[in-house]
Amino acid sequence: MGRKKAVVDQERYGVLKGMLEERRLEIQQKLRSLRETLPVEAGEVRDAEEQSVDDFVQEVDFALMQMKAESLGKIDEAIRRLEAGVYGECAECGTEIGEARLKALPFATLCVACQEREENEQSVVREGARVQEPAPLR
Ligand SMILES: [Zn+2]
Repeated sequence: MGRKKAVVDQERYGVLKGMLEERRLEIQQKLRSLRETLPVEAGEVRDAEEQSVDDFVQEVDFALMQMKAESLGKIDEAIRRLEAGVYGECAECGTEIGEARLKALPFATLCVACQEREENEQSVVREGARVQEPAPLR
């Protein structure tokens, strides 16, 4: 039984690793194309309006690049966790998170059941808070 489990784990590892690496490549390509659209240097003389549009575009691109770089870091982290054998496990109950779920949400740390329970608990807390609102004094 232990052997069979190992084979299954190996398969899952392959699938998840492929998925994460594909994701990483995708982000790297987007980052590269974003870098290419950014002007290397704003050396030319322009009128103010043109300049401010450029500044805006540059700011948006820069924010996008930062977001991508952040996701890249998360992917690397996920790959490290996968290699350590702790990726794709529910942080709450320890069961394996489904591959379909991980494909949709590579950084998911809870299985569907725990996620739903958590969301339910949160809405209960929210409703409880509403009930406990202090009543007007008079
Ligand atoms: Zn769980």
